[in-house]
Amino acid sequence: MNRRPPGDAPAGASDHASGAILTIDAEAIATNWRRIGARAPSCECAAVLKADAYGTGLEVAAPALVAAGCRTMFVALPSEGVALRALAPEADIYVLNGLLPGTAATLARHRLRPVLGSLDEIAEWAAFVAAERIAGEAAVHVDTGMNRLGLTARDAVEWTRRDKVFRPGFAISLLMSHLVASETPDNLVNERQIEIFAALRQSFPGVPGSLANSSGVFLGSRAHHDLLRPGYALYGGNPTPWERNPMVPVVRLEARILQVREVGPGETVGYHGRWTARRPSRLATVALGYADGFPGNASSSDMRSGAEAIVAGVRCPVAGRISMDMLVLDVTDAPTAAVRRGALVSILDHEITVDDLAARAGTIGYEVLTQLGRRAHRRVIGR
Ligand SMILES: *Cc1c(COP(=O)(O)O)cnc(C)c1O
Repeated sequence: MNRRPPGDAPAGASDHASGAILTIDAEAIATNWRRIGARAPSCECAAVLKADAYGTGLEVAAPALVAAGCRTMFVALPSEGVALRALAPEADIYVLNGLLPGTAATLARHRLRPVLGSLDEIAEWAAFVAAERIAGEAAVHVDTGMNRLGLTARDAVEWTRRDKVFRPGFAISLLMSHLVASETPDNLVNERQIEIFAALRQSFPGVPGSLANSSGVFLGSRAHHDLLRPGYALYGGNPTPWERNPMVPVVRLEARILQVREVGPGETVGYHGRWTARRPSRLATVALGYADGFPGNASSSDMRSGAEAIVAGVRCPVAGRISMDMLVLDVTDAPTAAVRRGALVSILDHEITVDDLAARAGTIGYEVLTQLGRRAHRRVIGR
């Protein structure tokens, strides 16, 4: 027998067969890219697509951004650059993690530009470029306070002054640095980094500069320079956590109810019985767990509340520990008719954002976003 289950479950066998559905709005990514670009109309707006476009899917995000007119893109790894090159044949693609030893030929073959972050990397790239007789466009990354990647400002300046005439040995197509705390504008480190970077640019005349990530774009024009480098905001994350999210949502996550049950006061839910019913309660077991990328730290107990989901328009709290493949919702306050086996509940949408869920889990939206959809059925709209 091949009959479809009854109820409001959507068509499409693969939807039915998975516990969760992740909907990605490709057009929303393009809209967000335009919106960020409009904050600094005299700058070029690039796009950061590392980690599979922050979990939204490189094959979804890259074509949407190319179609919107994005010409400069950043990934973290050479392997990501190779995958992106196939989707964006014309784009300038930078590899943020720099030059991994022995990868120069791979980069050149795919016209990828390393973001060189040390004198060792610079020497290796310059030698390769000389041997191959290519222009070897590359970015130079200078550290202005992160202490993660990049030349120290002093090394960078000394490098430019080593000889009477500065000959880097390759074409420096971009000078960049990365902000430590751009999502907290009051933090004085922003001002310090902005000043150091502006001073540094004097040593690299004619080289375009780039400093601002998503939140950096909102720090004012002195952070803008020539090229904006947003990632998170393109995928719907809030670059201005101190106020309403100016971006449009990109991801929606729904998950299916497996079972509904009633428990009496005093009964506990889930591993180690951390959550106790205080009233006669209705519970829905939902097919979404930490193996799906839902944060385990969004569990609840009698001591602390956790995440929420929306069931037929009603916010329902998670009850107890998140399991590997499941979580339990207290759906006592949701309309009884809507809570039934096979129905979908809303985990992330306009009302509960990636940033909201992250706050409940004591983490950041970036982490939630990049973990989503490991096992969910993916649906792409807006392309
Ligand atoms: C990830 C990354 C970005 C993008 O940052 P968002 O906060 O996601 O906008 C920009 N620059 C560098 C160096 C990065 O590593």
